[in-house]
Amino acid sequence: MAKLLEGKPIAEKIKEEIKQKILGSGRKATLASVQVGENPAAESYIKSQKKNAELLGVDYQLHKLDSQATEGKLIEYIEKLNNDPAVNGIIVQMPLPLHMDYKKISGFISAGKDVEGMHPANMGKIVFGKARILPCTANAVMELLSATGLDLAGKEVVIVGHSEIVGKPLSLLLLEKLATVTVCHIGTAKAGKLEEHVRSAEVLIVAVGKAGLIKGEWIKEGAVVIDVGINRVNDKIVGDVEFDEAQKRASWITPVPGGVGPLTVTMLMRNLVEAAKL
Ligand code: NAP
Repeated sequence: MAKLLEGKPIAEKIKEEIKQKILGSGRKATLASVQVGENPAAESYIKSQKKNAELLGVDYQLHKLDSQATEGKLIEYIEKLNNDPAVNGIIVQMPLPLHMDYKKISGFISAGKDVEGMHPANMGKIVFGKARILPCTANAVMELLSATGLDLAGKEVVIVGHSEIVGKPLSLLLLEKLATVTVCHIGTAKAGKLEEHVRSAEVLIVAVGKAGLIKGEWIKEGAVVIDVGINRVNDKIVGDVEFDEAQKRASWITPVPGGVGPLTVTMLMRNLVEAAKL
């Protein structure tokens, strides 16, 4: 029976380190959050970011733009924050209104203030193993893996999902640890090869957003399973992996909720400390 790999205790430990760093620096760290229009998902992220900021002694500024604001107006706003020496980090809340392109917008946040780690310059540094600011969810997964104490060198690691925020950067971070990395995606599924790859995984990381995509019986005995997926099914939050069956086979497994989620916002705050060079 797998041990539960919970994000909260790891997050608490990292938050304490962040708090000490901020206190010890005698300086203030300021995070500017930009929200365009209203959205329940964004409201919930903002609430959690605010709460974490308060706990850590971070100054959290919320800037609101009207849902009708143009991309140009948002970019102008971001540039103002880029040039404000009192602001250390900038986050643009997702989802943006449909007339805005997040990929384009995120490129306008100064790389040094990009606390989400999504700026092309920060992404590029991952290739060279030199990134100080890392994409939050991918970094959260790395923290969870580190907490298992498993040496990743030579391990068969399978990632399901190749998005820019999770699968792609994670594959590079795992290569740095000398893992043998396979990245599966919709092409793998369409070719009918998903099960075969998942069955070979000593470490399995799933970030798709489809409940029950990964059958519990596919999990290799003793595997470490990190489920990034968040799905609402019958008013319950579940991941992408069939938890009960997977838990019988794995050595470690993240619960959903309570696995990756609590660490993601902590990684945002860690990036802020890096950005502020505290
Ligand atoms: P995304 O951008 O939609 O990416 C999903 C990925 O899954 C894509 O690479 C997609 O491939 C692939 N995919 C789709 N159907 C598949 C299938 N049947 N078999 C294999 N691969 C398939 O999503 P995301 O932003 O990475 O998020 C993924 C999940 O993680 C979501 O549930 C999200 O809510 C959750 N999430 C959680 C956290 C957290 O803090 N816990 C943070 C971020 C995301 P194609 O693009 O080729 O279709």
